[in-house]
Amino acid sequence: MITVLVAEDNAVNRELIRELLELRGYTVLEACDGQEALGIIERAQPDLLLLDIGMPVLDGFAVVRRIRESPRIARLPIVAVTAYAMQGDRERILDSGFDGYLSKPINPSSLTEELNRLLTKQAIQPAHSDRPDEKQGEGKASNAVGSGT
Ligand code: MN
Repeated sequence: MITVLVAEDNAVNRELIRELLELRGYTVLEACDGQEALGIIERAQPDLLLLDIGMPVLDGFAVVRRIRESPRIARLPIVAVTAYAMQGDRERILDSGFDGYLSKPINPSSLTEELNRLLTKQAIQPAHSDRPDEKQGEGKASNAVGSGT
């Protein structure tokens, strides 16, 4: 069971994203602002965070900064979800600690691609694994990650 936290202050967008995720078999948690998102991440340890940039209390940039500074949750995959479609924002977002970027309105196939990309990467090195072979992989890295898209 893979759990995705959707942090988004707009209820309509949140519901839309929830439906897209549930159709794909993910379990969905919801947060309405950045502070609530941080609390849910600590409590429920979701597998991935879809994070709106423009939110009250704490915006997406503040949330991603706090997550990356917290060792226990620092490796959480985070995808920015934003209406800021201007040139340069994508770079600024990816420079800020996000792993991916989706612009609104969300394109369902882009959502699928981002989830597959980031959750596959995570699946190769599960957080609870103490397998000693985890670091030897230079010669045979990522056999589960296809390049064919
Ligand atoms: Mn918003």
